[in-house]
Amino acid sequence: MKAEIIAVGTELLLGQVVNTNATFLSEELADLGIEVYYHTVVGDNPKRLEALLQLADTRSDLIILCGGLGPTDDDLTKDVLAAHVGVSLVQNEAGLIQLNEFFERAQRTMTPNNLRQVETLADAIPLPNRTGLAIGCLYHGEKNNYILLPGPPSELKPMFVEQAKPLLQKEFPSHEKLTSRVLRFYGIGESSLVTELADMIEHQKNPTIAPYAKPNEVTLRITAKTEDALSAKTLLDQVETEIMARVGEFFYGYGESNSLEQVVVEALKQRHQTITAAESLTAGEFQSIIGEISGVSAVFPGGFVTYSKALKEKVLGVDHELLEKYGAVSAECAQAMAERARELAGTDFALSFTGVAGPTALEDQPAGTVFIALAQKDHPTIVTENHFTRDRAYVRHSSVMKGLDLVRRASLSKD
Ligand code: ATP
Ligand code: MG
Repeated sequence: MKAEIIAVGTELLLGQVVNTNATFLSEELADLGIEVYYHTVVGDNPKRLEALLQLADTRSDLIILCGGLGPTDDDLTKDVLAAHVGVSLVQNEAGLIQLNEFFERAQRTMTPNNLRQVETLADAIPLPNRTGLAIGCLYHGEKNNYILLPGPPSELKPMFVEQAKPLLQKEFPSHEKLTSRVLRFYGIGESSLVTELADMIEHQKNPTIAPYAKPNEVTLRITAKTEDALSAKTLLDQVETEIMARVGEFFYGYGESNSLEQVVVEALKQRHQTITAAESLTAGEFQSIIGEISGVSAVFPGGFVTYSKALKEKVLGVDHELLEKYGAVSAECAQAMAERARELAGTDFALSFTGVAGPTALEDQPAGTVFIALAQKDHPTIVTENHFTRDRAYVRHSSVMKGLDLVRRASLSKD
């Protein structure tokens, strides 16, 4: 069963509304074992919609249209589909009752164009709208099947889950389901990751492997198509083992909504370790980011933001001579900041960030030069020199991510 999703609405083409309906429907269809081959967006234009339907007929068994079921003139999806399959529109009784009740309760007079909302294609299975007025439908054509859904997500979602999904399950039972697992990596670029896995990606069938790059990290989604959950797990485990053998060093966690800061706070919590930070160029960004994780107070008593040399001396107690000799943008300064911060806060770990956020150079160091140190209880301090690229915001964010990764590795190594 091949499906495609057509979102109708000029507002989508103008970029005013994000096509979240397609995302939602794709996930739901995957759950039903129905493969989605195309997402298309078309404006409120009958000719272009008709042309798209003709194309869709040649390539998809199930065509889901969303948007344009409302009462106004630009809502034309239903009319275009009815003409396309050559049937008339009929009024849906239950929908009409609901519509009349709505206007009575609202004590408003109903304008005739509202009746359009309760029309469905003749011989279609109506899909009632629990959270709105426009009726959807499932229509079996000669060769293809069509589903019409309203545009507002608050109406589309319940209509799909409560009405359309059970119908699809009954009429097109599938024995195979898609199961995905997301692996997250830090410290390796997308192109390197893809190169390491080139042969696997080239020969992928089941599971499939899809890389996705975000600023400072890469995720891999592996997806298995199986009849039962157990064989999905077996297949995914096998591919994951192979991936880990090659790039496991950069792996930091699972899941769509996971993050490096979450993993770090969790790791510290589990080991009853604590952390502080002394930040110069990041000006508190590290502390702010871990502060977003609930329960962080168990591992983070507080920290320091020391931008100027004077404050590095005064608050942290970094040695005046050291600052004069090496400058603030130096490995020596980073080490001293981290070690002094750890002593002051009495924590297991302390990170320090000092460097040049840019765009201009500082102390003869080019923008992007950042020293990050990690002071640790009972272990020597780790000092790293980094050369980040791009703009100021990116340099600061890259610094925070690198710091998080240093902590993650150090925390795990204490097992
Ligand atoms: P209405 O009765 O509200 O007019 P409709 O079925 O005619 O409903 P549209 O007019 O196409 O739907 O869209 C109504 C609103 O629904 C849009 O302004 C937008 O906020 C939201 N919407 C429409 N399509 C999508 C989509 N593909 N993804 C997310 N939101 C959407
Ligand atoms: Mg509308």
